[in-house]
Amino acid sequence: MSVHVLPHPPTTSLTPKPRSNPTADTASSTTSSPELSSYESSENGVEELSEPIISAEKLRQIEKMESNPDFLWMTTEEPHRSRRMAILKAHPEVRKLMGPTLTTPPIVFLVLTIQFTAAYLLRSHHPFSIPFILTAYIVGGTANQNTFLSIHEITHNLAFKSIKANKILAIISNLAIGIPYAMAFKGYHIEHHKFLGEDGIDTDLPSKLEAMILDNVAGKTFFATFQILFYALRPGFIRSQKPTIWHGINVLAIIAFDILLVKSWGWNSLIYLIMSSFFAGSLHPCAAHFIAEHYLMNGPLPTKEELVKDGQGDNEDWLIQGLAQETTSYYGWLNVLCYNVGYHNEHHDFPSVPWTKLPELHRIAKEFYDPLPSHESWPYVTWKFITDPSIGMWSRAKRLNKGDKIDHSFWTPSTGTESKIHSDKETSDVLAQDEEEEEIAYMSDSDKPKNRNKKE
Ligand SMILES: [Zn+2]
Ligand SMILES: [Zn+2]
Repeated sequence: MSVHVLPHPPTTSLTPKPRSNPTADTASSTTSSPELSSYESSENGVEELSEPIISAEKLRQIEKMESNPDFLWMTTEEPHRSRRMAILKAHPEVRKLMGPTLTTPPIVFLVLTIQFTAAYLLRSHHPFSIPFILTAYIVGGTANQNTFLSIHEITHNLAFKSIKANKILAIISNLAIGIPYAMAFKGYHIEHHKFLGEDGIDTDLPSKLEAMILDNVAGKTFFATFQILFYALRPGFIRSQKPTIWHGINVLAIIAFDILLVKSWGWNSLIYLIMSSFFAGSLHPCAAHFIAEHYLMNGPLPTKEELVKDGQGDNEDWLIQGLAQETTSYYGWLNVLCYNVGYHNEHHDFPSVPWTKLPELHRIAKEFYDPLPSHESWPYVTWKFITDPSIGMWSRAKRLNKGDKIDHSFWTPSTGTESKIHSDKETSDVLAQDEEEEEIAYMSDSDKPKNRNKKE
């Protein structure tokens, strides 16, 4: 498919459109979302529930989606690469933000201390006692979500310059989780970045089977409650990894530590760590980032054909809406506990910028990020995901394989004059430099000598 290039950014198209939900019952409509229905003042001043705001067009889309749900199949490249290039052109100083931050290692050790202290103090409590479960949910769930995200940060080689040092820190951080995780996560996560949305490669995507089975409130509640198991088990079914020596070191280190823990403090301490990991990926405010990052929370998009036929827009409108929703950021306070993972558009655009500098990246390139839809609340994302029938496991953008590239000027902001279309030479220069820096955020030990030789 050929993609037309827009001369300026799709500011108005990117504003999330008001949604309605005709299939939700009145009670859930009024409590779950202020957008779903409305109150109007009647003549005597008493507020009455009005008819839900819903266009016939939207109703048709939702009915169609519900009778024959499917993923949003995109024929374009993921949006981050082109926006990254446009931002680097407009703000070359963004490069200065790239590279590791030494803020991460002390946080890793602080969180480990918190978790080990709690595991020690709870060693004599029954795992099903109230203090045990509450501590595992409030303290442990938050601490281990922070641990998952420290490993995410370290996976991008953003704690130390040395790749080996990053790997060792990731395995040390992994001790709080109780189950080997860090090295397997690295392989799958790099593919999530490089092949975002690609069916069968990006294991962040639900499979068709999951989407079919879990396509109702009970199924979505089950998914949100046991998310951690989906993320742990799905990759094994979809895409196997070639184990490396680091996978072995990771497994042995965690098993040895767990044995030591059980021998020293007893089974309850290990159960505390594992229960914390479960809550970290369950119905926990911080766990909502899993859904918030890439689910299309504005409901089904009209098809290209419908837009063209109804004269409401053209292919670009459809494309822009899809791209704008593919990744969604959250800028609220829970980012403090989660290594700013809410800055997810920014992170996918620049995986080599550490968590401490993502807010600065956002400030520098605000004309790119401010027009994009963002989430105001993570817990609300989970609530909406479960209760809104027009959103579910199908609400993901997928690609069969790499589509046509979108010209980077797609994201170039309007300056009031016609945007300058960069020459092919300029584009390839930026791309080469860009890729070199990006690779560092993805590198593993086995890549390093090869890539270094290539550059020299
Ligand atoms: Zn992501
Ligand atoms: Zn990442």
